[in-house]
Amino acid sequence: MDDVLLPDPAVHVAGAQEIAPDLLVIPNRGIPLVPNIGIIGGTRAVLVVDTGMGTANAEQVLALASEVAKGRRLYLTTTHFHPEHAFGAHVFGAQATYLANRAQADDLRTKGPGYLEMFRGLGATVADRLDGDVRVPAPDLVYDGGYDLDLGGRTVRLRPTGRGHTKGDQVVEVPDAGVLFTGDLTETGQFAIFPWFPPHDTDVSGVGWLAVLERLAADGHRTVVPGHGDVGGPQVLADVRDYLRELRDETWRRRDSAMGENEIAAEVRALLIERHPEWIGQEWIERGVGCLCAEHAA
Ligand SMILES: [Zn+2]
Repeated sequence: MDDVLLPDPAVHVAGAQEIAPDLLVIPNRGIPLVPNIGIIGGTRAVLVVDTGMGTANAEQVLALASEVAKGRRLYLTTTHFHPEHAFGAHVFGAQATYLANRAQADDLRTKGPGYLEMFRGLGATVADRLDGDVRVPAPDLVYDGGYDLDLGGRTVRLRPTGRGHTKGDQVVEVPDAGVLFTGDLTETGQFAIFPWFPPHDTDVSGVGWLAVLERLAADGHRTVVPGHGDVGGPQVLADVRDYLRELRDETWRRRDSAMGENEIAAEVRALLIERHPEWIGQEWIERGVGCLCAEHAA
């Protein structure tokens, strides 16, 4: 990346909003590399979903969670291993039990160090957030299958989705409130983030991701908290599903006629920008095309 400075990826905990009883979201306010963060309470315990990037952000999130918890036990989970979602978990240390699905724990172990180095190269604003004491976290408890976390009068469902935005995505569902945290399986106001960086990282699957969203969109969730962007209703899921379908269809149609990847990327990019002129993150379109070309049945 060139010397274009990204905005400081600062979490603003003062903006936390209660979207359901005892369920807060710290909105990302449209800042790149800041995720939406959840704080979900039951009578006995409180679960934090995602940490923000780096020590200072996570310290603020932990402080808010502790204030909300008022002595209730703390748990932490992360939606996937990407730095702005998980690379603050070291701050929670002994103060919270960090839970994660098996595939995400594997991602953290195998890919975490490389991502820490890569992100430290994204310019001073990001490097400052990931300075010396930040390390790739290891969950305290790794689960297989799904995990039902009883917070006291409220059970939260942690569910790995299978390969989508990453190999180890999980969603966090709060059934009594009708709320679903999707991590980066959904974003609003932007093109879906495809971390397709061959040969270093080719774990994202457009085909898998679409299948996940077709399933989630049929599940009747009332409130959806995307990884980045605005909290919304079931339309958040439907919109990303529809976008992934059109990205796949437009890519594969051209691939069927033996068009080269660069030409496909240029055409699909122009077409999708025309259809979604208000969306940011146009650089993710051609990465999505590259991923779907690789997944096209030869
Ligand atoms: Zn991500």
